Amino acid sequence: MYKRTSQTSENEIITALENKYTTKVYKFYEVALNNQPKEYVETLEEAEKIVNEIEEQFNTDELEIDIKINEKYTVNTEEINTDTFEVAANNVKTAAQEIKEENESLAIINGIKISVLPVNGTVSSRYGVSSSIRSSRHTGLDIACATGTNIKVVSSGTITFAQYNGSYGNLVKVDHGNGIETWYAHCSKIYAKVGQKVEAGDIIAAVGSTGNSTGPHLHFEIRIDGNTVNPQNYVY
Ligand SMILES: [Zn+2]
Repeated sequence: MYKRTSQTSENEIITALENKYTTKVYKFYEVALNNQPKEYVETLEEAEKIVNEIEEQFNTDELEIDIKINEKYTVNTEEINTDTFEVAANNVKTAAQEIKEENESLAIINGIKISVLPVNGTVSSRYGVSSSIRSSRHTGLDIACATGTNIKVVSSGTITFAQYNGSYGNLVKVDHGNGIETWYAHCSKIYAKVGQKVEAGDIIAAVGSTGNSTGPHLHFEIRIDGNTVNPQNYVY
C-alpha cells in the first residue's frame, strides 16, 4: 500500500500510481471557487494564470471569493475533462461574476436577485397589519416618500400590468420569472408599458397617492406564485 507524505514529490506520486495500476498516470489541475470545482486544465501554468486573472478582475477578499488550484490524477484520459485556457478562464470568470452578483444583491428569492430598492423612504405601514382604511390585512409594504419620486424596478423582468386598478390606484406589475412578481401601487405616473423588458434600477413609475391612499407613498408587494409575502423578509 502506497502512503503519501507531505515530503512526497509529484513524480513519486505518479510513479507509485503507475506501478500500482501498471498504466500511465495523468496529472491535471482543478480550479475551484469557494470549494466548488469549476474547471480543469492540463497545466499548472494555465491554472495559475486563471487565478491571477480572477484576482486582477475581482476583489476576491471583499467579495469572499476563495479560489484554489487542486492537483488531480487519473489513469483514464477520458476522465480528464480539461478545457483550453480560454474556455476555462471564461467559465471561471462567469462563476466568479455570479458569486459577485449574489454577494452584491439585497436578497435572492427563488433564484431571482433583488438588487435595488424601489424607493428610499420610511416604512409607514408594514405587511400583514389591519387598518380601518382597508377591508383585509395589508398585502404589501408602504414606503412614504414625496409625490413624483422615481420608482425603480427591483430586479430584471417584464411589465405585465400598467394601469389604474381600483384601490391600488395606478399599478405596475413586473414578472421576474421563477414565480416571482413585484407590484408598485398608488403611483402618480406610470412610465412603463405592458410587455416592456426592464432591468433592475429602471424607473417604471412615480410615487403618488392614487387609489385607496391617504398620502403619497409606494405600496410595494412581492408575490411568490401569486401569493403575497412580507417584503421585509427581503428588503427594508
Ligand atoms: Zn399599502
